Amino acid sequence: MHWLRFLVTWIVLLGLGLAIPGCNSPPDRARMGPLILISIDGFRWDYLQKHEAPTLRRLAAGGVHATRLTPSFPTKTFPNHYTIVTGLYPAHHGIVGNWFYDPDAGTTFGMSKPESNTEEHWWAQGEPVWITAERQGVHSFCYFWPGSETQNHGLRPNRFKPFDGKIPTNERVDELLRWLEGPDAERPGLCTLYFDVVDTKGHKFGPDAPETAAAVAEVDAAVQRLLDGLARLGLRDRANLVLVSDHGMSPCGPDRIIFLEDLMNMAQVQVDATGPVGGVRPKPGTITAAELAAQIRAKVPPQLHVWLRDETPERLHYRGNPRIPDVVLLADDHWNFESRTGWPVRAPTYNRASHGWDPATPNMGALFIGSGPAFRHGVELPDVENIHVYNLLCAVLGVQPAPNDGDQRLVRAALRR
Ligand code: AMP
Ligand code: ZN
Ligand code: ZN
Repeated sequence: MHWLRFLVTWIVLLGLGLAIPGCNSPPDRARMGPLILISIDGFRWDYLQKHEAPTLRRLAAGGVHATRLTPSFPTKTFPNHYTIVTGLYPAHHGIVGNWFYDPDAGTTFGMSKPESNTEEHWWAQGEPVWITAERQGVHSFCYFWPGSETQNHGLRPNRFKPFDGKIPTNERVDELLRWLEGPDAERPGLCTLYFDVVDTKGHKFGPDAPETAAAVAEVDAAVQRLLDGLARLGLRDRANLVLVSDHGMSPCGPDRIIFLEDLMNMAQVQVDATGPVGGVRPKPGTITAAELAAQIRAKVPPQLHVWLRDETPERLHYRGNPRIPDVVLLADDHWNFESRTGWPVRAPTYNRASHGWDPATPNMGALFIGSGPAFRHGVELPDVENIHVYNLLCAVLGVQPAPNDGDQRLVRAALRR
């Protein structure tokens, strides 16, 4: 009878294994088309209704749509793109801003410094989904994504393209489609694609401007072009699409600026980042961070919030990492803080709209649409935090996620299995 009990135990264990979330039997990869993760930078949650976006509306109505994808703090491009692909808050994945200083490395990370995209140490605190996939035998092609141009613990996406913002929207689609030609066996399980024009026009002209509406229409048409190309490759009904944005967009301007010089002795500080969000550190051998915070608080206007790194509100999940400025500064919606250096010259071209404010600000809400055979049809979800997207991507790919800050609620609400 011993062998019988042994057999029964294994049958029960196998059955349980199939029922545990994250331990699902892998989807039939030979049949499954790629999962295409598309970011439309700066696509505010309500652009879907505000502007003409027939393709996106159709995908949202026929698939899974979250009313508002809540970004992580700070609501900037690099931190949020890396949160979406790691499931980690920025304090945990280490890309704590578009610009930040690392006291251990003694250097500054910068979104427009090409070496920041390729130096592994900046990105190594998080495991992006293409690395999770690669570890488990699923290949990836990244057509632009912050963090995709570097090795991560010795691994890389199978194919990636160094960022070049000058490549026109449609050309990005066409090149990705060329990458997808060829036999099923050579196709990747995961692709990323990125569009920046909606963010660029939003900054320059504002969320309601006709130029921003035209950018939305341009990207909407590019997504339709992708769908048509997938149909030509026989992948239209097999591919899964996840469309996200990193943050929203809110009006601002040179008339609503708080100047750092009015609040602190600039000779004593290093400025890590300015704008809606950022911060400062005392220069070595000057004053303590607590003294600097007290100095700022003595003069601060009501539109600016001042916190020591480890005293930021808990709901922002922005503590602990030494890359976070010693003194974190956050302005209210529509307000920015800046240095007076070069100011009168900078004022006329200052952003007409921006992002970086508190993720709870309505204008910071972002986009989420899931569409394809893995997704339910016609599901409208309420607000979803973007830390949950990584687990969803892993579930669609049938890979086990690395430990992260998200949970399985989005997976359960969005997927058919
Ligand atoms: P933001 O200033 O936060 O609005 O960032 C948007 C800008 O980030 C875009 O206009 C791009 O120029 C830039 N960007 C986006 N992805 C990348 C990338 N992978 N590498 C370098 N720059 C990027
Ligand atoms: Zn962005
Ligand atoms: Zn932007």
